[in-house]
Formats: sequence, C-alpha cells, structure tokens
Amino acid sequence: MDYKKLIIETINKIDDEQTLSIIYNDNLSDYHNEDSIIQLYNDWLHNQTDAEFDLMMEIMFQEKLFDDMCFSKESITGDYLLRNGKHMTFETGLAIDEQHFRFIVEHIAKYDAYTDINSRKIVVDKKQIKNKSTILHEMIHAHEYILQKETPILKEIVLIELYKDLKPKLANRKIDLDTWIFNHSNIPHNIELANSGCEHDTLFFLKSIDLDIRCGFELLTVFGYDYTRNFKELGLL
Ligand SMILES: [Zn+2]
Repeated sequence: MDYKKLIIETINKIDDEQTLSIIYNDNLSDYHNEDSIIQLYNDWLHNQTDAEFDLMMEIMFQEKLFDDMCFSKESITGDYLLRNGKHMTFETGLAIDEQHFRFIVEHIAKYDAYTDINSRKIVVDKKQIKNKSTILHEMIHAHEYILQKETPILKEIVLIELYKDLKPKLANRKIDLDTWIFNHSNIPHNIELANSGCEHDTLFFLKSIDLDIRCGFELLTVFGYDYTRNFKELGLL
C-alpha cells in the first residue's frame, strides 16, 4: 500500500483545523527521518556534558545484558538468524548507540527518567545517573523500539525465548511465571499503567525480570512502579 499517497489524499479532504491540529500534534510534529536523527546524534556527540559521556559509557557497558534483544550469536535468540549455517547480520546493528540514541542528563520534575522514541533519546534525571535499575528500565524501552522498527517478529521471538528461559528459573524460586504474567497483563491494569507513564507490554515485563536475575536485584526492581511491594501484598513474591 502506498501510505504516503493515501495520507496526502486523506489530509487533502480534511477541512477543519482542529482535526488537522490533532493529526499534526499526535503524529507528525515529533517525526524525524533517519538523516535528521543522525544530525541530532552528531550534534549531541560533539556537545555532550561530562555526565552525559559517563551515562553513554555506562549504557554501552550494560549492553551485554541485552544480548537477546541484540540477537547476538550466543544468546537465546541467536539461532533465529541462521541460514545455511551462517548468521545473518543486520545492516545497522541493534545496539542502542548503533541506532543513534542520545543520552541526556537533566533535571526532570515528574519522572526518574524517560525514553523519547520519536527523537531517539534516553533522558535521565541528574539524581538518578548512578541508579543502574532506572537506566536498565529505559534501555528496555529503547531496545523494544529498535526491534519494532526493524521488524516486529523480532519482539515476538524475544518474548517466546525469554518465557522459555525464565519459566524454570522462576519455578526454582517457587514462582509461577504464568500467574505473574496474568497479573501484569490484566488489560484494565495495563491500560491504567500505560496512561500513567508509557507502554510496558509483556515482553517488557519478562525482560525486566531477566535483568533482575542477571544483576542480582530483588525481583521486579527493574520494572519499578512499586511492583515489588504490590506482588508481595498479593502473595506472589
Ligand atoms: Zn517505563
């Protein structure tokens, strides 16, 4: 389908300013093409603060924890890239810095950190720059966006493989992963959660648990949103 043609034809039919302003503000005002993203990245790279350089180094160091989302050969998802005994590679790597994400440190009133996928930046509050779980949380958002952008089946593969990997690991801790997923993925709860911040789908939930285990955190630390306390109150942790 020629979406560009379809969009232009449809917009040409709209007369009222309010509808046009909604379309523009919701979908188009933040749009950047690949060239403008690279321009933003290069400008930032040459003007980054010391704190932003440190944040960049920290994020690049933590990328090894995202081998599954980067489809590294040795990871649980690596074999999906095999064809005739050889691993396919992506034209642009799936790591966050290869995708020209910027890392901004500033004072944020409302959140500890957030990820803006439209302009490809992870923004961390000044007080949180040493908070590893906060940084990892935002890295999941960035990686999910990269997988979705590349081709959506990548997200499905990571979801399935993480599920298979985590199920016995949690069973060893007397935790039933299916019950946890059912609790997190309850639709009204998930919509409420999305309205208070941003999307945290089932893949996000599983990857956050994987990171808790790999980092030796108390379970549900990387997810945040008071989940550790809530799951304990529900007798699930
Ligand atoms: Zn989040």
